[in-house]
Amino acid sequence: MKIKCDFCETEYTLDERPNSAVKCAVCGNTWVVSAPPRKNSWLMFFASLCALLSALIFTVAVITHHQAKTVSRGPLVASVSGVETITDEAGVQHLVVSGSVTNISDEIYGVPDLIIVSTDQDGRVLAQQKFLPSATLLDSGASVNFSHMLSAQPAGVKKISAHLSELQLPQGDQE
Ligand SMILES: [Zn+2]
Repeated sequence: MKIKCDFCETEYTLDERPNSAVKCAVCGNTWVVSAPPRKNSWLMFFASLCALLSALIFTVAVITHHQAKTVSRGPLVASVSGVETITDEAGVQHLVVSGSVTNISDEIYGVPDLIIVSTDQDGRVLAQQKFLPSATLLDSGASVNFSHMLSAQPAGVKKISAHLSELQLPQGDQE
């Protein structure tokens, strides 16, 4: 901004308005630079408009988030389509379980955590591992595929199945 000594009228250029009084280098006059009119008030108006807008956006985001959270979890079906053994660079074998979660209802549902349950030949649960599928919401009739690498499995695993964390495990699998 430009300021002018109000005694000798020497002009100075400053980056911003000084907070305290300034002293003229030519005549030694000291004066207080007043705020430039208009430009600043427009800036203030613009800043408050921005603040208002961001407050609005924040409110909308909160409402959207809230709605997403209140979607009920219901008639989703999880199924395992394949179990594959892969060997990593260190020679360690891992099981990779793939399958899908399908929404068989007429409404949109949130996808809960999935639990991969490993059972032995008598149906006893040997291990349970929980993970989050990639999709969080499923439209009516839609399905999402998943593929999850299991950490070390105990010996004697005969069957691997997928369950939704909100649902009860089948009775026979627990003992
Ligand atoms: Zn001066």
